[in-house]
This record gives sequence, structure tokens and C-alpha cells, in this order.
Amino acid sequence: MLSDPLPTLLDARKAAARGAAVSGVLQPSNLPRFQALLAGDEGRIEAQLAFNRDEENRPVVSVEVSAQVQVTCQRCLQPMPLALNGAARLGIVWTDEQARHLPRDLDPLVVGEEGCNLWDIVEEELILLMPPYSYHETQDCKQILSEYSADVEPPMEPAPEKPNPFAVLAQLKQDEEPRS
Ligand SMILES: [Zn+2]
Repeated sequence: MLSDPLPTLLDARKAAARGAAVSGVLQPSNLPRFQALLAGDEGRIEAQLAFNRDEENRPVVSVEVSAQVQVTCQRCLQPMPLALNGAARLGIVWTDEQARHLPRDLDPLVVGEEGCNLWDIVEEELILLMPPYSYHETQDCKQILSEYSADVEPPMEPAPEKPNPFAVLAQLKQDEEPRS
């Protein structure tokens, strides 16, 4: 199990030439755009990035991310656990012009001169992995449970004619009129 935090910046050119691999752990609070989609700060994110050159000698990075986070159930609006797992391979480029020349199956990762921000890559992949809506398993969902318990109540029927207890009380009080 990974325990060290994922490094932030890396020289992508050197990393690809060396075939460098980096891995590490992040917290949701490290990735504000991803965190904004979550129900809370609890969670754990693991990432592995392997830099390399493809068969055309293009610099590429293979990204694997997995995360255990809390999101909001869209049915009962309570927090629920969500696991995300995904992998991608990106073509490393330095200009938009280079990005346009990448093959269609290689998404571009445009890297600035300051280096390649690994946290940004992980955040982008996690956002892509997020399902648009999340729901509890039916047995765990508060909304389903309350609907179910409502269903087992007997169906509404007109109440049988019963004497109104207050009317009875009023009648008793009238009977108790002081005898003067
Ligand atoms: Zn729910």
C-alpha cells in the first residue's frame, strides 16, 4: 500500500527519457476542483504515473488512479462511499500545435515550461471518472427505506364511524351541570 504523498512537479521531458515512474497518495483536500464534487474531505487517493516513449518515440505518460471518497446520494441526499478506478495514457506535448498532431487515441497533456503538474493530471482523471449521479445500494438508502416502510402501512381507508372523544367529554360535562 502506498503511503508517501505524490510529488507535485516533475520534468516531463527528463522523466519520459528516463522511463521514470512515480506513485503516491493524495487527500481530497489536495485537489480542490475534485473535492468540490464530494460530500466530505474524508477519503484516500492513490496514483501511479509511468513516463515513457511510445513506439513512435513520442513522450507519453500512463496514469492509474484509484480513490475512496464520499459523495452525496442523489436519492436521499446523505453521504455514501464511492470507489473510483481508472487508467489513461496521455501524449506529452509542449504546444497546442503538437497536441493537434497526436494520434486520436492519445489525449494530449500540455506541459508548461515549469514542469508537469502531477496533481493536476490526477485531478483531471478523477473528475473524468466521476459518475454524473450516485445512488446508495437500495438496502442502504434512507429514501428507499422510508418509501418501503410507507408501503407496508395499511392502505388508507375511510375511518369507521367512531364517537368523537371530545364530543363524548362535552356530553359528560353537560351532564355534570351544577344542580342548583
Ligand atoms: Zn441514498
